[in-house]
Amino acid sequence: MLNLPDREKVHRLGLMGGTFDPIHLGHLVTAEEVRIQYGLDHVIFVPSGQPPHKENRTVSEAEHRYLMTMVATITNPYFTVSRVEIDQPSGAPTYTIDTVRYFHEYFGKKVQLFFITGADAILEILTWKDYSELLSICTFIAATRPGYSLNKLKDTLGSACPETMENIDILEIPAVAISSTLIRRRVAEGKTIKYLTPESVTEYIFKNRLYCSINE
Ligand code: ATP
Ligand code: MG
Repeated sequence: MLNLPDREKVHRLGLMGGTFDPIHLGHLVTAEEVRIQYGLDHVIFVPSGQPPHKENRTVSEAEHRYLMTMVATITNPYFTVSRVEIDQPSGAPTYTIDTVRYFHEYFGKKVQLFFITGADAILEILTWKDYSELLSICTFIAATRPGYSLNKLKDTLGSACPETMENIDILEIPAVAISSTLIRRRVAEGKTIKYLTPESVTEYIFKNRLYCSINE
């Protein structure tokens, strides 16, 4: 398959899903830290399909988000980007379980899957489709993220569904208080985004005039 790592060479595979509107250093630092700490052979970034709206804002076109993720990861030989979600017919919802099943089938059962998320995303796992199957086919790595307390995460998930915690690892990573929301807002306000995202992504944003107006 175009772009994906060689099936024979992958034993431990990381998946990182996100809107990536745009991708930033918080995503990249997290993925690299998990790759090293968990001895992953590869990490595949999976930009989400086109949701009609996310938290009352219009999400940038999938192709832009895919290309920004591509340029941001190009210098890391252990990172690739998958089109599996963005190539879904538009409007069709994409669920993490479907993506994980897809990679589970593509790479085979011998490959161990690790799904990388931030602490904010993992707090919602109990609302995800087929979350218990999801937890049975992959291990979740919840990376700390400024503003989201680890204790809250343990308390919320631990009391709601104690068995979920068996397949969720919490990993403290160097804190990076960057979000895509912050970058979009800074661009709209004409502020610099230097060092918040790779230079190639900054260039891409300006060349394509993304985030010019405030649309949170
Ligand atoms: P937005 O502000 O638009 O919600 P975001 O910065 O949260 O964007 P997403 O694409 O929503 O980025 O996140 C994809 C995944 O990356 C999620 O699991 C999220 O928790 C995680 N993530 C995002 N930013 C960070 C960060 N700074 N540190 C750790 N994890 C992060
Ligand atoms: Mg987010």
